[in-house]
Amino acid sequence: LSKIGFIGLGAMGQPMARHLVEAGHELVVYDRSSDACAAFSGDAHIAEDVAGVAQEAQIVFLSLPEPTVVLAVGRDIAANSGQVKHVVDLSTTGSNAERALAQILASKRITLIDSPVSGGVAGAKAATLAIMVAGSEADLTLVNPLLARLGKVIPVAAEPGQAQTMKLVNNICSAAALAITSEAMAMGAKGGLDPQVMVEVLNAGSGRSSASADKIPRFVLPRGFDFGFPLALSLKDIRLCLEEAEHFGTPMLVGQAVRMLYSIARTEFGDSADMTEIARLCERWAGVELNNSSTPANGAS
Ligand code: NAD
Repeated sequence: LSKIGFIGLGAMGQPMARHLVEAGHELVVYDRSSDACAAFSGDAHIAEDVAGVAQEAQIVFLSLPEPTVVLAVGRDIAANSGQVKHVVDLSTTGSNAERALAQILASKRITLIDSPVSGGVAGAKAATLAIMVAGSEADLTLVNPLLARLGKVIPVAAEPGQAQTMKLVNNICSAAALAITSEAMAMGAKGGLDPQVMVEVLNAGSGRSSASADKIPRFVLPRGFDFGFPLALSLKDIRLCLEEAEHFGTPMLVGQAVRMLYSIARTEFGDSADMTEIARLCERWAGVELNNSSTPANGAS
């Protein structure tokens, strides 16, 4: 394989690009933040701009914050597409923007592999991400060995945009599970139940979810609220999911309620506060604390 481009070296992009370097690939990288680029000095060629990456790489990975940024960078790649034949979008972009990106790139005979990821910064660092992929069979075969360096590759469909839809299905489920588990456990604590016992029962029973199995016992009960996914990014995923539902004309009543709860939490705690602060909001409203002490903090008995 020739040189690999990587644009967007943030919380997710940096560890993912690092795995490709460690696998022995020659990388040309770019981020608009010079600090993010500096982390790769000596390990990869640092381009001056998007065009610099497009001049050198045949495959370009993107890990960018917002659909508008992904589209702007995509236009820039198309306008300067010296070597580029394939773009792999690892960002959460939503299917509308992903289809628009595919069109922009197709005008220069560049194919798009739609590859959003799940598993957070911890998963990116440990190379244990779930990578949802949509693209032609030939493209998937081509990029599979590279993506396999970052985690578990799961082909979901043939059309770019469809992996984005899958990613949004996943993330609304994760956001909703945290919301409902937090408010239900706050109610249980008000009724005098021990939060640790509630978690044990939920995980042995039919109420189990990523909230009861992971987020609440590891990041709420010990009071760290440091799962590592900010409310602003959660709300971005929820917004994109509701836009998706509008696009396909499907109802999303629970999703709307989840959006309201997360919006209030962002107003209370700020953009960069952790998504597990959702539990703190439910605690406040219920007048309880979900902690590891064996006596519920609400004074109920
Ligand atoms: P981030 O904000 O940490 O990183 C984004 C990087 O893009 C930054 O370094 C920024 O400087 C750079 N950037 C912004 N505009 C640019 C431009 N025009 N040209 C070049 N570089 C530019 O975000 P992140 O957490 O790494 O997330 C990246 C993508 O992955 C997002 O789409 C996000 O929704 C998705 N995602 C994040 C997580 C997570 O846990 N953080 C999990 C799954 C998916």
